[in-house]
Amino acid sequence: MKQLKEILLNIRKLASAESVLHWDMETYMPEGGGAFRGDVMAYLSLLTHQMATGAPLRDALARHIDPETGELVNITLNDDEKRIVQLTRKDLQKQLVLPDAFVEEMSKHVSATQQVWTKARKNNDFAAFAPYLEKMIELKKREADYYGYEDKPYDALLDGFEPGMTTDRIAALFGELKPRLVGLVDRITAAPPIDDRPLRQTFDTQEQWKFGMGIAKAIGLDMTRARQDMSAHPFTTGFHPDDVRITTRLDETMLLSGLFSTIHESGHAMYEQGLPKAHFGTPLCEAASFGIHESQSRLWENVIGRSKAFWEYALPVLKTHFPQLQDVDLADWYRMINIVKPSLIRVEADEVTYSLHIMLRFDIESRMMNEGLKVADLPEIWNAKIKDYFGIVPKNDAEGVLQDVHWSFGGIGYFPSYAMGNLYGAQIMNTAEKDIPAFWDKVRSGDFSALKHWLNEKVHARGRYYDPEALIKVISGAPLSAEPFMDYLEKKYSEIYRL
Ligand code: MG
Repeated sequence: MKQLKEILLNIRKLASAESVLHWDMETYMPEGGGAFRGDVMAYLSLLTHQMATGAPLRDALARHIDPETGELVNITLNDDEKRIVQLTRKDLQKQLVLPDAFVEEMSKHVSATQQVWTKARKNNDFAAFAPYLEKMIELKKREADYYGYEDKPYDALLDGFEPGMTTDRIAALFGELKPRLVGLVDRITAAPPIDDRPLRQTFDTQEQWKFGMGIAKAIGLDMTRARQDMSAHPFTTGFHPDDVRITTRLDETMLLSGLFSTIHESGHAMYEQGLPKAHFGTPLCEAASFGIHESQSRLWENVIGRSKAFWEYALPVLKTHFPQLQDVDLADWYRMINIVKPSLIRVEADEVTYSLHIMLRFDIESRMMNEGLKVADLPEIWNAKIKDYFGIVPKNDAEGVLQDVHWSFGGIGYFPSYAMGNLYGAQIMNTAEKDIPAFWDKVRSGDFSALKHWLNEKVHARGRYYDPEALIKVISGAPLSAEPFMDYLEKKYSEIYRL
């Protein structure tokens, strides 16, 4: 095991170096550095791939687990070690089953498609994008065949984002969610709108930065092992649990967007900081899934950050940064930061409508993969569904089917993780509220340490030891369900919209 872990650690060091370069590219690199940076990162990525599939790793691994059958051959392994060799084999197989020629074809097609998509979105030209998406789906079907699957091709892709999840399982969860969600959106849109005039002012971005940093520290982000910088799109990256980076973007006219992005990314970053450092390099020191990662950001952003209890603590602090909000009272503030407004654009969606945007994308991409849904029919299906969910119709494809980057980089199977994050998060928070005495009183007084430590223990420190659905069951004692999320939304928004 010592030898295996050493090889894995070295691979991880290379991957971390690549992440540092990527972080720099998104934050500080001058525009002119792009081409050379691309070369360096591609070379590092090649080295990582060679090490991650090379004979030394395969030989070290084969002493513990049969590469063909997955059967353990070393009977002295403890539970952590068993999981390490099983996950390492799984990750290795995924790289080995793709022929070099396929990887190259895919990589070329992704580059071409991203360029075409950027232009197509700008020119509102779905016809230009369509043939590239068709070819992408064709390649993704081949990729799924290489990976193998029991039931449906889309399942093979989902496994890369939410291990163990299947089309049918997600369809069942979303099926539970949809009628209650659509009903809630209907009732909210029929209710009188909330007055948000106090938010329609300009807010000094330096003060926004100071307030956001203060909140990040208050909720438990360890700034001796993290830093925040600016970038065009907020993101989190972790080089090691002791060196995690978040970014934000600030705009004078959008106080909430900068603030909630800092809380969101802090949630991601606290997960990275809380991963089990002793296992660094092995799969155990990795996130359980994209959706579990997203659950950590969303529970801090929405369940805590958009709660009334949180603002009992934070609103007086905010007012010291922005005296222009002096006259806003807590009840009104709570309502205006939770405004629900059906919109066409996913990334602008609120906590209630967000999952519907994902359900639409899941339905379309899973049917393209599993049932041969035709790319040419996408705009029509898209617009019909948006009308069905929200009662509004996109003016053009740029604000409809062309809006997301994911399909252009081959991220088929990625979307469900966002909505799964909401479901995981609600079920996790449900349990936390029961486990932590006087939970909301603590939040009200600005004491978030109990929740942070609880999440450290229940979620972060477990790394990738469990697949996501098993992790939720271990934490909450119940199978994953859409109910905690819907109960939470209905209770919260009935009060806010006085339904
Ligand atoms: Mg996120």
